[in-house]
Amino acid sequence: MATLSETLTALYAIQQIDTRIQRAKRLQSTLDNGMEAAAQSAAARENAAAKRSIQHHVSGDLKDNELKLDTVEAKRKSYQQKLYQGSITNVKELANIEKEIEALGRQISDLDERILELMEQAEAAQAELTAADAEATTAEGHRTDTVAAFRARYEELGLELTDLTRLREAAAAGTEDKSLLKRYDDIRLKAGGVGIGRLDGNACGGCHMTLPSTLIKAVKESVQLQTCDNCGRLMLP
Ligand SMILES: [Zn+2]
Repeated sequence: MATLSETLTALYAIQQIDTRIQRAKRLQSTLDNGMEAAAQSAAARENAAAKRSIQHHVSGDLKDNELKLDTVEAKRKSYQQKLYQGSITNVKELANIEKEIEALGRQISDLDERILELMEQAEAAQAELTAADAEATTAEGHRTDTVAAFRARYEELGLELTDLTRLREAAAAGTEDKSLLKRYDDIRLKAGGVGIGRLDGNACGGCHMTLPSTLIKAVKESVQLQTCDNCGRLMLP
């Protein structure tokens, strides 16, 4: 039969394992799983799509106006040729053609102005799209990296937990005094995961409260089981 001191030492070893299990679980639950990075990536992708739509619209508009300009210029050229060929002699018809050429000239000037405007807009839209695409690529890369790091770390902690759980089971199985083990477990559940504390000078190693000298003496003697007056944890010299 193990002595009280040996049992308490065994429980203290179990406590070390339990603390590591608790730590690994806490780390696992607080890992960045990439949710935020995914939201950022989706927003960046959406922004790039909006910029692409603007760029598409402006460049379409530009092409339309360039085609219109080609048509109007061709029309004016054909009127001018008619005029220079000298085949039209009717004065009224000549005047009409001149008027038409003038009107087409105004249209061409308006179209030139509009095309210049649209070229500037298209350039700006393209620059914004390029920047938005780069941002989306970066955000997606960050998301991928975050998820990969999360998975690797989660698995690593999972393996650590498997090992620790096995160790814990073996240590618990090797503890003769099952009722004291249960008591330790009950205290641990109520006291933030720590069921047994070593004396820390004149204080409890669990709650750090200074203990009465009679209790300290009793803990050191290890004849009878002692618990901290303040936190209720099992005491070990
Ligand atoms: Zn205490």
